[in-house]
Amino acid sequence: MNQPLWGIDLGGTKIEGVILESIDNPTPLVRTRVDTEAPKGYDHIIGQIARLVANMEEQSGMKPTAVGIGTPGVLDPTLQTMKNCNTVALNGKPLQKDLEKNLQLRIELANDANCFALAETHWGVVKTSAPNAKMVFGVIMGTGVGGGIVIDGKIWSGRHGIGGEWGHNFLDESGGPCYCGKSGCVETVISGPGTERYYEKLTGQRLKLKEIVSRHKEGSDPAATKTIERLCHFFGKGISVITNLLDPDVLVIGGGVGNIDALYTEGPGPAGEVHF
Ligand SMILES: [Zn+2]
Repeated sequence: MNQPLWGIDLGGTKIEGVILESIDNPTPLVRTRVDTEAPKGYDHIIGQIARLVANMEEQSGMKPTAVGIGTPGVLDPTLQTMKNCNTVALNGKPLQKDLEKNLQLRIELANDANCFALAETHWGVVKTSAPNAKMVFGVIMGTGVGGGIVIDGKIWSGRHGIGGEWGHNFLDESGGPCYCGKSGCVETVISGPGTERYYEKLTGQRLKLKEIVSRHKEGSDPAATKTIERLCHFFGKGISVITNLLDPDVLVIGGGVGNIDALYTEGPGPAGEVHF
């Protein structure tokens, strides 16, 4: 396996590609990205992935034998079509088959949160900080909320491929309707957009999460502080279900919302009497 590894992260906004030197030395040789432009539809997304692979070939002077792609949602193991993607244009589509046809390459798909959990286990923070961990739960909190379970170094994807997908567990009605057809899902409450919506409800002003966090840090905006306190409260509440069910050795958080310090200090604390 000591050959370069080609990987792509298919996000809702960006598609990022990386070529790693080898599995033993995962140094990036090339890293490049294109916009997803998801509103333009499924065929356009396929075209953007093809463009990205062409860019990677040009920058590296190499050709891949296979490409691994981390996707939102999952390829249904029986139907071989995508499901549970917050980039909804992918749902119901045979993404693996269509990409193999378009790129004339072997393509492997996996849920992005599963990829994240596995990468942190073998190459990232788990390896350096908790190398004896038997179970790792990886959480992605960004535009959406996903999760992946690693047991003894391997992904547990489950019978339907949805193992660890806690983003559509019910959390709180205040999250409102979700694209999945339900309401109050974890994702609607503690994702980046869910958090920005709550701040907007308090103030009438739509701010980026980064700005809300910096106002909270400055202590200059009580609505920003309430928003971050709510995020920590519901993060703790949402993750408690995972903890009680799996009791993982390590919980590792990624994604834009995962960069908020308060999650690590306030998130695990006692909830007490709070009302949001
Ligand atoms: Zn949902």
